[in-house]
Amino acid sequence: MELKIIKTENKKAKPQGALGFGKYFSDHMFIMEYADGKWQNARIQPYQELHLQPSASVLHYAQGIFEGAKAFKTKDGKIRLFRLNDNLDRMNDSAERLCMPTFDKKFVYDAIKQLILIDEDWIPTDEGTALYIRPAMIATEPALGVHASKSYLMFVIVGPVGAYYAHGLAPVKLLVEEHYVRAAKGGTGGNKVIGNYAASMKAGENAQAKGYDQAMWLDAKYHRYVEEVGAMNIFFVMNGIVYTPALRGSILPGITRRSAIAILKSHGYKVRECNVDIRKVAEAAENGTLGEIFGTGTAAVISPVGLFGYKGKDYVVNGGNMGEISKMLYNELTGIQNGRLPDKHGWVDIIKE
Ligand SMILES: *Cc1c(COP(=O)(O)O)cnc(C)c1O
Repeated sequence: MELKIIKTENKKAKPQGALGFGKYFSDHMFIMEYADGKWQNARIQPYQELHLQPSASVLHYAQGIFEGAKAFKTKDGKIRLFRLNDNLDRMNDSAERLCMPTFDKKFVYDAIKQLILIDEDWIPTDEGTALYIRPAMIATEPALGVHASKSYLMFVIVGPVGAYYAHGLAPVKLLVEEHYVRAAKGGTGGNKVIGNYAASMKAGENAQAKGYDQAMWLDAKYHRYVEEVGAMNIFFVMNGIVYTPALRGSILPGITRRSAIAILKSHGYKVRECNVDIRKVAEAAENGTLGEIFGTGTAAVISPVGLFGYKGKDYVVNGGNMGEISKMLYNELTGIQNGRLPDKHGWVDIIKE
């Protein structure tokens, strides 16, 4: 397939001051259409509105998926992409789960590369900033029957982002959610599908109304085994061993999670992917064997947890401070991403020298 490039005549002004997360988008976007059984009309075009029928099936039945990745630019002008291939693999997995068409990974990878190079001057260079890459695919068939759409749009938008949390790496407070669940085995929790997020907001708002930052999710069956935090994977350090919930269908297979596990192992830490019982975690907090808790995700990278509330009781984690392992992981991951540290794992694609 050919990639058409239509450049804008009206470049937007760049944002001034704090970038925040996901508020600004560059001058161009990638888009392609699926119809008559094939992807077609692939183009990079000026960032613009989509035209959809009010009957477009994504608006009614949430047949839609997305991804999140980052590109980095160092002061020397090099542009680095972090593990984008893994995001595109995961997106094709999500597509299969929702009966959506998969795509040629190499074609889309190259298109994203070209988009980033065209909008290169949108990549921020300050410490902690990045160009966030948001691929998405939506069902566009104008029909209200509940069935897989015959037509789709796939697009990629990019934009500069700063720190995910307004107060930087300050540890967050979590409320263990005992009523609502994010995902059940056999459902869509293991895929980045848009409907998961609408269903998760209630718990986040409940937590915030009670003075916490986010919900810690438990499994759907026993309400006992930890699954994730907000939209991040979660790690616990107990007795010096690092635990993270095993991927068993209801947990999103995070690329930051996978990267963190690899870094931890390369530093000689014992990492166990298994069930993590929230009652054992509370016990460990009480008897002093709980070291740290942290979340992992592309947006925040590492998010230390300073406290969690469970059954009406608050448990302070690591004195409310960011722990040594969290610091090491944040330093290694961001170092590999921005070129401060060598890329021993082969995760980085330098797309401009
Ligand atoms: C995207 C996401 C993550 C983190 O995945 P990364 O690939 O590390 O960004 C974790 N949990 C949920 C629910 C997510 O949507």
